[in-house]
Amino acid sequence: MNSDDGNGKLIYLDHASTTPMRSEAFDAMLPFMRSHFGNPSSIHDVGQQARKAVDESREKISTLLGARSSEIVFTSGGTESDNAAIKGAAFAMKSYGNHIITTQIEHHAVLHSCQQLERFGYEVTYLPVNVHGMVDIEDVKNAIKPTTILISIMMANNEIGTIQPISEIVEEVNLKSEEIGHKIIVHSDAVQCVGTLPIDFKSIGIDMLSASAHKFQGPRGIGLLIIKRNTPFEPLLIGGGQERDRRSGTENVPGIVGMSKALELAVIEQNENNKKTIYLRNKIIFEILNSVENSYLNGDTHNRLPNNVSLCFDKVEGETILLGLNFAGIFASSGSACSSASIEPSHVLLAIGRSEELARSALRISLGATTEIEDIDYLVQILSGLIHKMRSMPIMAD
Ligand code: PLP
Repeated sequence: MNSDDGNGKLIYLDHASTTPMRSEAFDAMLPFMRSHFGNPSSIHDVGQQARKAVDESREKISTLLGARSSEIVFTSGGTESDNAAIKGAAFAMKSYGNHIITTQIEHHAVLHSCQQLERFGYEVTYLPVNVHGMVDIEDVKNAIKPTTILISIMMANNEIGTIQPISEIVEEVNLKSEEIGHKIIVHSDAVQCVGTLPIDFKSIGIDMLSASAHKFQGPRGIGLLIIKRNTPFEPLLIGGGQERDRRSGTENVPGIVGMSKALELAVIEQNENNKKTIYLRNKIIFEILNSVENSYLNGDTHNRLPNNVSLCFDKVEGETILLGLNFAGIFASSGSACSSASIEPSHVLLAIGRSEELARSALRISLGATTEIEDIDYLVQILSGLIHKMRSMPIMAD
């Protein structure tokens, strides 16, 4: 069980939205909010103490993610990393062309950045995905033209958990890039993967990667963008020249230290956690699909984040399911957190071919390291009971 507020069990199953910060990260951060409060740019000892912590964290993170330490740029989180990657590459590559390729299922941080660039004269191709949410490598190849400068494809989807074949895509892009005679920058939003899946930046072959600490039990408001050496990049934030001129602003030292601690532990515990989470994830999928008629799994069965379950149900509203679960002390999501306040059906579910009505019934359950089998048994019991009850209400009937 996750926690108990004295009134019964509380089960948090919304880890794709955010995770509880782990105590080791919190403890590592505290000194940098109190005694070690210096600005890393100051040359005195208090400043240099902070500089050392930032350098050590950068070194640790780069080793954990298979990058050079000079390639790590600290940002305020996934949204900033995505914005910086898309606009930074598009601006820097303008003399080679104005065409960007992305997919219809990206996070809004990517989609809205691309839409903004369209208003400034860039051309964007939004690739479709198949019913499982997979991008077709042939579609990527066929979309490339002489003016293509940037391709942004997420590593795993935040709503339906589908994992894309990024390395294979990069191989094809590099061949095409040789044909057209200039570099095509490849960015991947790995916000849902870092901490959960093994990441080796160098061997994946991409040029830029976004990550966010609060998705792997680190603090909120800190993230990173890895920018491969020599990748053309125009910074979004300019000023004091921090982060080797790629992201100005006084560094969030406690955040950086907390993020590196959280990532270190997430990587150490990754295999063990994933084994348990995959078992629990499959248990939910199997039991719900078998006990609730006309329920459907969204996303790919195999190429799927270990902690993601995304379901749709005939003849029920996702918001009503969420409220019912909330009443029972279970916290999940109807889609991505960012769109949960909107009544629009999810763009991801529409892209995989769900009808508007079915998309409105979506439920995302995302597990975490503290999720236990009793939580899942309770969830399955409550959820299947809830849906049967909702469907038997006159208003829900045909
Ligand atoms: N990209 C993906 C795939 C996400 O899931 C999220 C957050 O949900 C973001 C980007 C934005 O990250 P942040 O909340 O750190 O701004």
